[in-house]
Amino acid sequence: MPRILIVEDEPAIAESLAYALRRDGFDIAQAPTVRQARASLEGVELVLLDLMLPDGSGFDVLHEARRSKQGPAVIVLSSRDDEADRVAALETGADDYVTKPFSPREVVARVRAVLRRAGAREEAPPAAAPDRCITVDEPTRRASVHGHALELTRVEFDLLACLLSAPGRVFTRAQLIDRVWGDGFAITDRTIDSHVKALRRKVVDAGGDANMIETVRGVGYRISDDPAG
Ligand code: CA
Repeated sequence: MPRILIVEDEPAIAESLAYALRRDGFDIAQAPTVRQARASLEGVELVLLDLMLPDGSGFDVLHEARRSKQGPAVIVLSSRDDEADRVAALETGADDYVTKPFSPREVVARVRAVLRRAGAREEAPPAAAPDRCITVDEPTRRASVHGHALELTRVEFDLLACLLSAPGRVFTRAQLIDRVWGDGFAITDRTIDSHVKALRRKVVDAGGDANMIETVRGVGYRISDDPAG
């Protein structure tokens, strides 16, 4: 079974997560500090990451996990309703977040969804669109704008690949959640918006046009169906 690392210094929370995940068959490792977490990443498929740790910030662990493309997926355990932290975590490459207080069942469901996405990516068939200014290549997980490589997080890549699967079509936020996170999943609209915002910024930084990924007010998002722009 996949190995999950729980990085959390509050014993009651760590134990309730460990209990719920073990009961679901996961192999569990625990680390209550940044130092122990960094030493425990080897062989881990997913990290549940508290941001406020006694010897530093969970962001240090997130950076370490993101140093390699083969690094573990990360779900941030946000200790308060702090949008800035969550956006920063998503932009640093976290795959998802949950806000405390959360139910262990909710966390287990999110863990399953993130791992399912990771598994689906490995089995995905080739789907390149070489004549467009934005391209994605599913097998290699590479994306580019005007030939400039985009460094995307898993979620950003999956969002872009979804939008590019039907240029010009408007995807509602619910449809994007369904395609990217999996069905029946309680992702908020704001989560989608944060990921799209980060994706759009990277497209612009790589020389693309901010309007390539278009916001359709009150509905969702679409990618321009004009191959030139
Ligand atoms: Ca903490």
